[in-house]
Amino acid sequence: MNNIPNTKVSTLPLEGERGGGLLSPEQISLLQSLLAAAHHIVITCHRGPDGDAIGSTTALASWLHRRYPDAEIHIIAPNIFPDFLKWIPGAEDILVYEGHEADVCPIVEAADLIIMCDHGELKRMASLGDVIRPLLPIGSGEKGKVRCIMIDHHLDPEPDIADLVISHPELSSTCEVLMRVILELDSPPALLTQSEATSLYTGMMTDTGAFTYASNRPEIFELISILLSYGIDKDKIYRNIFFTYSPNRMKLMGYMLYMKLDVWKKAHTAIMTFTNAERRRFGVLNGDTEGLVNMPLQILGVKLSIFLREDTEHPCIRVSLRSVDDFPCNEMAAEFFGGGGHKNAAGGEVWGTMDEAVALVKKAVQKYMSYLKEGNIK
Ligand code: 5GP
Ligand code: MN
Repeated sequence: MNNIPNTKVSTLPLEGERGGGLLSPEQISLLQSLLAAAHHIVITCHRGPDGDAIGSTTALASWLHRRYPDAEIHIIAPNIFPDFLKWIPGAEDILVYEGHEADVCPIVEAADLIIMCDHGELKRMASLGDVIRPLLPIGSGEKGKVRCIMIDHHLDPEPDIADLVISHPELSSTCEVLMRVILELDSPPALLTQSEATSLYTGMMTDTGAFTYASNRPEIFELISILLSYGIDKDKIYRNIFFTYSPNRMKLMGYMLYMKLDVWKKAHTAIMTFTNAERRRFGVLNGDTEGLVNMPLQILGVKLSIFLREDTEHPCIRVSLRSVDDFPCNEMAAEFFGGGGHKNAAGGEVWGTMDEAVALVKKAVQKYMSYLKEGNIK
């Protein structure tokens, strides 16, 4: 991009925090020294990468390439990511661990710095986490040979795995966290490229349902304004993410809403289930079920939407939870489904049959009824 943005970048102070930026002076110098000392950087994200995972890792890799041209930098995703994220600039260079273990393991083992993006626990990387765990200075009191930085916005980051934890659950997305970090280390015009800005916007947009939840803080829109000054086409980004259905996916939507939607009126809860037999019938790929869980929230009075789908690789049921207002999806996910996430969007799993998963969901809804029953209008 050749027109240089003339944006004046504010420090965007966070309410109630130090009154300055996101990072303390000590964190800034630790971050700078960890980055400057690294020769082989591996950037990771969680299994089942979403827009925020792919957006933050690609923006970070590109920004690091420009700032530290001598470092070798790889992004490693634990498993494949959906087609509708493949257009994100830099996504073509992402290495996928599952299915390519022999090629990817040596790259992980050669790393002297691992930067975990969009997840705060090693277990969210599944088998890739098992490879990384022994490289880190966990628990033993001894420093492993690999340094680690965490950049994330999930609650309760796993202790002792990172030398530097930049974890901000109060922010919309890891892309927002990362953009603030970059703002504190860099200044225009070198701050961002148009591609990096595109990646960052994508993560902020996808983790907020296109700014329909977790996005009431004015600073988000200041950041968007800066990203726009780098020439992003936000309308196209929206279409690239949301208007990419295959005819089968569109038909699946109709089928799910007509045949599979169950509304538990008294509990203000909607539930849909999706089996692998249905997956085969509609010829849908893994990412094709993305977003289905959000649809029942459009029903007047529904406060909680639950989507259960059979996993394609493991004998378990993946659980997705979405809510409005104060219903704490993350707490329900942690208590009943061994997972976590955010207040209005969380997930987990049930190791059992679909019937068992539905029974557990009923128990969970019963337990959380006090959140669900007051008032029936959103
Ligand atoms: P989804 O329903 O799209 O799979 O997940 C929604 C959000 O919940 C994700 O962005 C992630 O933050 C969180 N999440 C999903 N699955 C898990 C899980 O197994 N563990 C944790 N800690 N968080 C999860
Ligand atoms: Mn995220």
